[in-house]
Amino acid sequence: MPQNPKPSLSDPVQFLKGVGPKRAELLHRLGLQTAEDCVQFLPFRYEDRRHICKIAELHRGETATFSGVVTDAGLLRMGRRRRLFEVVVEDGTGQVRAKWFKFREQYMGEKYTAGQSLLLTGKLVENRYLGAGLEVVHPDVEFLENEAELKNVSGKIIPVYSSTEGLNQKSLRQIMQNVVEHYLPLVEEFIPPNVMASQKLIPRRDALEQTHCPPAGQRLTELGKCRSPGQTRLIFEEFFLLQMGLSLKRRHEKTREKGLALKTRGPLIQKLMRQLPFELTGAQKKVLTRIMQDLEQDRPMNRLLHGDVGSGKTLVALITLLTAIDNGLQGALMAPTELLAEQHYLNLKPYCEALNVGLDLSISALPPADKEAIRQRVESGETQLVVGTHSLIQKDVRFAKLGLAVIDEQHRFGVLQREALGKKGTSPHVLVMTATPIPRSLAMTLYGDMDVCQLDELPPGRRPIATKKFYENRRDEAYRIIDREIQKGRQAYVVCPLIEESEKVDLHTVTDVHEDLKRRYPGWNTALLHGRLKKEERQRIMMQFKDGAIQVLVATTVIEVGIDVPNATLMLIEHAERFGLAQLHQLRGRVGRGQYDSLCLLVAHHPISPEAKARLDAMVKSQDGFYIAEQDLNIRGPGDLMGTRQSGLPLLRVANLVRDAEYIEPARKEALKIVEADPGLVLPENQPLKLALENALGGRLQLASIL
Ligand code: ADP
Ligand code: MG
Repeated sequence: MPQNPKPSLSDPVQFLKGVGPKRAELLHRLGLQTAEDCVQFLPFRYEDRRHICKIAELHRGETATFSGVVTDAGLLRMGRRRRLFEVVVEDGTGQVRAKWFKFREQYMGEKYTAGQSLLLTGKLVENRYLGAGLEVVHPDVEFLENEAELKNVSGKIIPVYSSTEGLNQKSLRQIMQNVVEHYLPLVEEFIPPNVMASQKLIPRRDALEQTHCPPAGQRLTELGKCRSPGQTRLIFEEFFLLQMGLSLKRRHEKTREKGLALKTRGPLIQKLMRQLPFELTGAQKKVLTRIMQDLEQDRPMNRLLHGDVGSGKTLVALITLLTAIDNGLQGALMAPTELLAEQHYLNLKPYCEALNVGLDLSISALPPADKEAIRQRVESGETQLVVGTHSLIQKDVRFAKLGLAVIDEQHRFGVLQREALGKKGTSPHVLVMTATPIPRSLAMTLYGDMDVCQLDELPPGRRPIATKKFYENRRDEAYRIIDREIQKGRQAYVVCPLIEESEKVDLHTVTDVHEDLKRRYPGWNTALLHGRLKKEERQRIMMQFKDGAIQVLVATTVIEVGIDVPNATLMLIEHAERFGLAQLHQLRGRVGRGQYDSLCLLVAHHPISPEAKARLDAMVKSQDGFYIAEQDLNIRGPGDLMGTRQSGLPLLRVANLVRDAEYIEPARKEALKIVEADPGLVLPENQPLKLALENALGGRLQLASIL
């Protein structure tokens, strides 16, 4: 393998010592293309090999690392069924039996031969049958070429990297040690000195070195919790870069983009306020004040509004949209699905009729002629307010004078959609609404480029929703509870996950459930609602449910959002174990909207995973959207963050949004300070940072056009 004379961080992995084409392929599989990727590929755990015990020093109950030579190995049978593989290891001071209950016989026979040197780590237990001896079950094993090799792997804290089949830990570790040796000297600092000082960060090169090769004095517990000085520096660095990118983008949008300053509190708003049957909540007033301040500026608003389900976002959206219309501009309300768009349309319709505002619904389910008519009305400006899906901002629709867009994301996060809007002429004002209150750490990461405000208060008179978990064998009880509500004059939702039987035959489908209910309670007026029905049919059913003609609505998740029937007090969710936490919370939010006590019944089916059980327990325990959102993040883990992968954000390699949330705020503060002082990043001390930013997120945030 020819060695590159002058190493560079962009060297492909094939250039690394000990890496041929086959290993290069394996490294690619780990996502490692260049030497720099390797430098940043950190161990996911560590093993303490500082102290290698003599076998004679081992004690029952402790977890220890010891070495020895195999003196005997073979398959044992215990009774008729159980098999185990036992290896006897000796080091001159004593012997330990290592045991495996799960193993591949051929592999074990080949690897554990007499005379093989091993290094073992595991918890020692006393052999119950033979009395004296110690044993270790399923230990971590490292095979040593010979006893002399022991000194290479001992006396240190050893990193463990996540590997892939075909590349063993020892080889991977060797490759990484070489990388550290040859390439680490090329790594440069990019965090400005004053940030280093105020955050007490160690230099980048040291941090990487200590993370790959922890010094012997390092505390293992700190390393295990990702709180060693090296690790915290790297965590901070990741958040810092991200927040730098977001702050620059936000500043850029605020200063360079021209927007239209609007006059607020115009005639439509005043008329609406006179007609409203209730007072705005304090939270709605507070949020609207901020929004109106934004709209009065001659740069586009870029604001995120989050508020729990039922907090009254729709009204805030309406007032915001009417402000644009008062100024002779058009408003657009965009929802993630056609069904939700339809629902928004139905909710806004009475207001728009009363105010004489031209409202249209633009969805693909319409007949072509209607679609074309709407397209023309939007283009001519006759349509003042259009409701549709996110596809409104895509190619086909042209607005006469779009002034404001409200994007309802519910619990989907798609941060960068704004870009497409800007291309529709002068940049319209944008309000993004999200229904699931997201943990602050996540909001600051996903929406770091927006101004954020929150509806932190529900309209008055809301009653708590008692939530109960049932297993399917107690469904009868759940149905009796529904019956009681019906007898009292209330209405109920029964929600099922799928429309038709598909892969899982045992899944209770919405039609089955509907049939079953009709049979058991022939007296109830029921209806079936799902996405395959024609739009007119769906709307008719919804109107009948609103009027109370239908008592029990059996539905798929089409009712997840937007439906508002205060007399509905019961929500039964079938196969609740299949729903995500955010979705369960949304569904539950359909009840508890009137003056009556409400109930949410979660019907779970076995088998139920520990995660699913944790989700249902979180629902039973709390109705607080923030608590639910935080639990969601904890249960899912950061690997699967609600679609962050598609959100345009770079993947966090070291930092973890749950574990490391405490570093986000300081990273954001430092980033803001720098952006304020040097928005173009022209100062000499910020040049390394600028370079690092371009490397890390250049493409994603279109930095070139921002700086
Ligand atoms: P969200 O969209 O945030 O889930 P909605 O906008 O659907 O919530 O509002 C839920 C319900 O609360 C609706 O019936 C709405 O008419 C009502 N509502 C909104 N604001 C108020 C208020 N200030 N006082 C009383 N009821 C309100
Ligand atoms: Mg709503």
